[in-house]
Amino acid sequence: MSNKIKGRYQKILNRIEAACKQAGRDSSEIVLVAVSKTMPDEDVLELLETGHKHIGENRAKALEDRMEAIKDESVQWHFIGNLQTNKIKYMAHRVNWIQSVHKKKALKEIEKRAEAEGRMINVLVQVNISGEGQKSGCEPDQLEPILKYGQKLKHTRVKGLMGMATLTEDPEKVRPEFRLLKKLRDEHLHLNAGPVELEHLSMGMTNDLEVAIEEGATMVRVGTAIFGERNY
Ligand SMILES: *Cc1c(COP(=O)(O)O)cnc(C)c1O
Repeated sequence: MSNKIKGRYQKILNRIEAACKQAGRDSSEIVLVAVSKTMPDEDVLELLETGHKHIGENRAKALEDRMEAIKDESVQWHFIGNLQTNKIKYMAHRVNWIQSVHKKKALKEIEKRAEAEGRMINVLVQVNISGEGQKSGCEPDQLEPILKYGQKLKHTRVKGLMGMATLTEDPEKVRPEFRLLKKLRDEHLHLNAGPVELEHLSMGMTNDLEVAIEEGATMVRVGTAIFGERNY
């Protein structure tokens, strides 16, 4: 087995460390989610040998297959892709984090499935921070009703917000988008009650994690820099 992935993983840890230092933060505040989409199971297994625990997939079927293939009980599985309500049933038995909740209906279904499994599922509410065009996540004015709904749940914890920034080569361009997500989190902290506890901000990927950390990210989702270029 090569050590390519382990080497890249170490580089990412170093980048996170440096970004935290720059921002006057402690790297223990940052959860790194390794995004393994389209990559073979062997690559994920190599990464897990480092002791890394958080793995993300963006398609329900891919996540289901991965959770089936990799039996390691200590892995924390994240669903980070576009969430279709009718796919929740394929992940509820094992997923630990669903980062892309954007409507009450999805929360309702997660609660129902988690209860049936006797489990607790952590979720983040995905907010559309990139404006027009890309339609992923709820609009900022939908956050309040979604969070209020979340306050009543028993098998679902609403742990924060997630955002996908505009795809661009220049990470500085997305700084205002990250800043917006943090502002929205801060503006909704008064809704923390029961299972709603807005502690996490999931933002930043391979190209822009430094800017995201400077702007308050507590979770970064990194694929390419760990697993290499994808073929799509
Ligand atoms: C693919 C993906 C990532 C990781 O992107 P990289 O640029 O490869 O680091 C992060 N978040 C989501 C939602 C993704 O689909």
